[in-house]
Amino acid sequence: MSNAIVPPAPVAVIGLGNMGVPMGACLIKAGYAVTGFDLLESARQKFAATGGCVANDMATAVTAADVVIMLLPNGKVVREAVSAMRPHLRSGAVLIDMSSSDPIGTRALGAELSAAGTAFIDAPVSGGVRRAVTGTLAVMVGGEGAIIDRVEPLLAAMGSSIFRTGALGSGHAMKALNNYVSAAGLVAAVEALQVGRKFGLDPALMTDILNASSGRNNTTELKLKQFIISETFDDGFPLRLMAKDVRTADELAQALGIATPLADLCTGLWEAAARELGEKANHTEVIRYLERIREL
Ligand code: NAD
Repeated sequence: MSNAIVPPAPVAVIGLGNMGVPMGACLIKAGYAVTGFDLLESARQKFAATGGCVANDMATAVTAADVVIMLLPNGKVVREAVSAMRPHLRSGAVLIDMSSSDPIGTRALGAELSAAGTAFIDAPVSGGVRRAVTGTLAVMVGGEGAIIDRVEPLLAAMGSSIFRTGALGSGHAMKALNNYVSAAGLVAAVEALQVGRKFGLDPALMTDILNASSGRNNTTELKLKQFIISETFDDGFPLRLMAKDVRTADELAQALGIATPLADLCTGLWEAAARELGEKANHTEVIRYLERIREL
């Protein structure tokens, strides 16, 4: 790993939202010289409050960076951001899309960048804001091994499990499929809770029993009591992003010609919930959508 990019190398973080701010803070803690950029002034201020440098435009943010990390809402926004930064990148810079983007779009973007000699990998994450803060995310990395070797120390500053998933786009495919499984499991757990409660079962006791039984999943362990039964709904992962991830998985299945009836149903359900509950809803609030449709 002789040409690894190590502290205090300059790094740009583009997208200073729920994930970009804590992940950027982990890079600062590791000793990298981080400059953040976001279209929103309020987001830039949040990053500055954690001790990060901020740039007021894309060109200034990326111009000196050895590595440009993107934590943006989706692949379409990533492609727009890459177009805006390309004329300002230094030669040899590595681009890392850590957003949850669509894998087919990532491959198309990769082909374009590779023709221009720009190194690009996908490295989406799982673990939410909680694990972004502690630098213990799961990272799924797709792309050429030699490029990943160079940026591995940065990935290790943000994540505790780094998985090499294969060719470019495979990290994004894995991330979408993971979130589809998580989204389907959440709906199953919440539906069971609603039925059990109406029959007279205690939701907290149900959660304990699920967690000691074969119905246990990520939602029963980490979300039912913490965010859903307590009605705090504040784990930092918006419903609109979960709906996007489920659609990404479903579209990947369609592009590969694989029938996925449950993913089709989940896509419809999560997208209807996102429309109904709005931009700001947390994904655990999907229970509110399920309660509403039962009343209709
Ligand atoms: P967010 O909406 O909180 O932040 C995205 C930020 O990008 C916003 O501040 C927005 O202003 C900024 N932005 C949009 N277009 C831009 C542009 N062209 N240039 C610069 N900034 C721009 O989203 P988030 O929760 O931080 O998630 C970021 C990515 O990580 C998403 O793809 C999401 O699916 C994924 N993700 C989120 C979580 C989570 O728990 N929040 C967990 C895993 C993965």
